[in-house]
Amino acid sequence: MGHTCIHWFRKGLRLHDNPALMAALKDCKELYPVFILDPNLLDKKRVGINRWRFLLGALKDLDFSLRQLNSRLFVVRGKPEEMFPELFNKWQITKLSYEYDTEPYRLSRDQKVATLAKEHGVEVLYRVSHTLYDINRIIEENNGKAPLVYKRMQAIVKTLGPPKKPIPAPTAEDMKGVKTPHSEDDTNKYAIPSLDELGHDIAELGEEPFPGGEQEALRRLEENMQNTGWVCGFEKPQTSPNSLSPSTTVLSPYVTLGCLSARTFWWRLTEVYQGKKHSDPPVSLHGQLLWREFFYTASVGVPNFNKMEGNPACIQIDWDTNNDYLTAWREARTGYPFIDAIMTQLKREGWIHHLARHAVACFLTRGDLWISWEEGQKVFEELLLDGDWALNAGNWQWLSASTFFHQYFRVYSPVAFGRKTDKDGDYIKKYLPILKKFPTEYIYEPWKAPSSVQKAAGCIVGKDYPLPIVDHKVISKKNLNRMKSAYAKRSVDTEESPSKKEGVKRKAPSVVEMLNKKAKK
Ligand code: FAD
Repeated sequence: MGHTCIHWFRKGLRLHDNPALMAALKDCKELYPVFILDPNLLDKKRVGINRWRFLLGALKDLDFSLRQLNSRLFVVRGKPEEMFPELFNKWQITKLSYEYDTEPYRLSRDQKVATLAKEHGVEVLYRVSHTLYDINRIIEENNGKAPLVYKRMQAIVKTLGPPKKPIPAPTAEDMKGVKTPHSEDDTNKYAIPSLDELGHDIAELGEEPFPGGEQEALRRLEENMQNTGWVCGFEKPQTSPNSLSPSTTVLSPYVTLGCLSARTFWWRLTEVYQGKKHSDPPVSLHGQLLWREFFYTASVGVPNFNKMEGNPACIQIDWDTNNDYLTAWREARTGYPFIDAIMTQLKREGWIHHLARHAVACFLTRGDLWISWEEGQKVFEELLLDGDWALNAGNWQWLSASTFFHQYFRVYSPVAFGRKTDKDGDYIKKYLPILKKFPTEYIYEPWKAPSSVQKAAGCIVGKDYPLPIVDHKVISKKNLNRMKSAYAKRSVDTEESPSKKEGVKRKAPSVVEMLNKKAKK
């Protein structure tokens, strides 16, 4: 007999290491691979054109791979809660499979869809494969708390043992006897949309240094792994924020959408390390994947993780509201070339180095502009190809010294920091060509150049390029005092600071627990 299944692709846009899909295929006679363009998640204001292009590339690649297996991808337009009942009826579905997701919005959406499925007599099957471990197991292992210190995370992971090995992609053999019926009609109805159709102005698009898709992800992984000396010697703090080509793997966009499985990445690294001297967490590449796991765990265990208010792990800070500053930062018009070059790269290419993220995040928040990390989080969410709910929120909290990191007196200079790794300012010249004729001496501080130098460079500061919007030396001192007060207030407000404990205890059962309980019933 066998089931008629929908495999619902959301993240996890891949065939390799896709345990939910594999499990569904075990007793399946008809398979409908579906992706839903959910207007709640894919709002144009929240998701920029580069991210859209990346997603559409990933869908095209997935469709291509499915067609190699005599199947195809159905792209459904609408809200999942409204579309599924229609699809269940139309295709006479008996089983629904998907990859487990920990994001609060997605969890409650999945819960609604699971309830609808049950009402339609559809069996629901899901598997954990977006993270190295089942995040709930990590929390359980830490007595119901999310560890807020990396060392603690390492200890827990050690007791759990290495992550599960990834499983291979389905083969023609696995697809034997499985059909994907589709009609002429479906060709247009469920086609992958173009950027044009989605209302984007493609004239805005630049080159595509990081095309979406599983094939590109696996190719990029292999390219990086071939460089065994580099992989074994990798130490994140030694990589450069402003090299002209990326100094880290740029696998993050692929891991975020699941074009690359984190476990495949992990085990490929293990293979490269085998028998060789290599760096270790937290600075190694294994260490980077554990950072990901660390922030995912915090995002599940800490309520209101993407907000300051109601987030018990987060220091409450009296951030200013200043739209002019926020816009100048976003639009690369702060007058600090290092900051503006990074924001230009972000807007143009959708990826910036981790330490470049440090520089602009510190500048926006506690360093200079004193604007809430939540505002920065929104801009990153729109522009980063790797925009990830948990990692974005976690890292913004870190950089603003709100959660995890408390050495708020360590402030990045928007001038000196970039100079350490790019004395001549080649990176600035690449992204801000208006400054390219400035002598090295002034490239990080063009406003200090005498007017004769500015004229000779063909760029008058204050006219052709902005004057600095704040004086870093003055404002950073003032901000240090504001941070000091926020920290002092916190120690009065809470008898014991959450950062000093090993984690934040969950108060009420989480949605995950509720969903798990329901599934067990
Ligand atoms: P590599 O150094 O090659 O690392 C390999 C993988 O490890 C990455 O692909 C990523 O999956 C993971 N990783 C690396 N660093 C981190 C980290 N600090 N935290 C969690 N996982 C990590 N990363 C995102 O994927 N999505 C985001 O939305 C995001 N927002 C950020 C916001 C701020 C303010 C900051 C400071 C960092 C943010 N990061 C985010 C983390 C980090 O900067 C990127 O993961 C990394 O730069 C991606 O480049 P890569 O793939 O070359 O990293």
